[in-house]
Amino acid sequence: MIQLPYSTQFIEENDIAAVVEVLQSSHLTQGAKVQEFEEAIAEYVGARYCVTFNSATSALLGAYAVAGISENDEIITTPISFVATSNMAIALGAKPVFCDIKMDGNIDETLIESLITDQTKAIVPVDFAGKPVAIETIKEIAKKHQLLVIEDASHALGSDINHKKIGSYSDMTIFSFHAIKPITTGEGGAVVTDNEAFAQQLRLFRSHGIVKKQLWNSDMVSLGHNYRLTEFAAALGLSQLHKLDRFINIREHLGRYYDERFKNQPFFSTIAISHREQSARHLYPILLAPELHCAKEEIFTELQECGLGVQVHYKPIYQNSFYKERFGEQRLPNTELFYKSELSIPCHQKMTIADAEYVAETVSKVLERFAHRGCSI
Ligand SMILES: *Cc1c(COP(=O)(O)O)cnc(C)c1O
Repeated sequence: MIQLPYSTQFIEENDIAAVVEVLQSSHLTQGAKVQEFEEAIAEYVGARYCVTFNSATSALLGAYAVAGISENDEIITTPISFVATSNMAIALGAKPVFCDIKMDGNIDETLIESLITDQTKAIVPVDFAGKPVAIETIKEIAKKHQLLVIEDASHALGSDINHKKIGSYSDMTIFSFHAIKPITTGEGGAVVTDNEAFAQQLRLFRSHGIVKKQLWNSDMVSLGHNYRLTEFAAALGLSQLHKLDRFINIREHLGRYYDERFKNQPFFSTIAISHREQSARHLYPILLAPELHCAKEEIFTELQECGLGVQVHYKPIYQNSFYKERFGEQRLPNTELFYKSELSIPCHQKMTIADAEYVAETVSKVLERFAHRGCSI
C-alpha cells in the first residue's frame, strides 16, 4: 500500500558521495566544510554571517544567550510552534509570553504591542509551515520599543517576501536541518545575522568559549558548550543546499495543485500564500470546518490507515504539562481554534502529482463522509 509521510528527507547518490568523501578524509570535526556550508547559507539567504550548530534547538539557545536573555526577562512568541522555540528561553531563566495567532498559523502582529512590558527583550516569531510572518511590521514594533527580533525560521529556509529571503530581516534568524526540514544534515541548525558581535559570541558559545592564540596557547574567555556540527554533516548540508530550490519547486507545484483542487469545497480550508511571498512549503496544512472538529481523532486515524502520514502542528505549547505547572493555564482563542482545525497532509519533494491526486482524493472522500455524519455536540 502507498505510504506518504507528511514530510521526509530526500537523499540522493551525490549526497551520499559527499558524506563518504569527508568520512575518508583526515578531518571529521568542525573545519573547512562547516565554514564552506556557513558561507553558502549566508550567501543564499543574504545575511553577513552564519554560525552552524548541531541542532536548531542549540542554535536557539545560542541566539537567546548572546541576546543577553536571562532571569526575569520575557520574550513574546507564538504557542503554535515546536516546544524548543520557548523552551530555550526558559532554559536561560526567561518567561515566554504567548501571543495569539492568525488563522494562517503565524503570530498575530497586531496583538504583539499590548504584550510588551519592561521585562520584554525580544519578539520571537515562527514562519509557520514556511509562510513568512509579517516581518516588516514586527521589525517596526521591535524598533519602536528597542527589542530584538529573533526569528525561528526552522520551517522557512528558502522562503521569501518580494524575493528577499527569510534570514535577511531579523537581528538573528534560526534554521533547522533536522531530517524532515527543508534541507537536512541529519541533525543540525544555524543562526544567521548581520551583527558581527553576535556572530563572534555565537561561535564562542558553540565551542567552549575558547579562542585560539599562538602555538598551543588558547584562552577560554566565556562559558561555552560543544554544539558543533560535524564535517560530514556540513558536507551533506552543502550538497542538499544545492537542491533546495528544486525541492521547493516540487513542493510548490504540489501545494498549488492542492490549492486549486481544494478550493470551493466546504469541508476544510487551506492557507493562501500571496503572490508577493514564497513559502518553503515545509508543511501543507488544511483547516477542518467546525462540524468536523469533534471527529478529528477518527479522521486522523482513518487517513493514517489509508497510508497518509498526516500530523497535527502543533498542540499549543502552553497546553503541555510543564508549561501549565510553571506558568498556569492559558487559552488563546485563535490558537485553540487552529489546534482543533489543523491537519498537515503529505507534501514533500519525493512525491509526484499522482501521489498528490491520491492524497486529495482520499482526504476529500474521508472528510465528506465525516461531515455528513456531523458532530452530535
Ligand atoms: C524543528 C523545529 C525546531 C527544532 O529543530 P531541531 O533542529 O530539531 O532542534 C525548532 N523550532 C521549530 C519551529 C521547528 O519546527
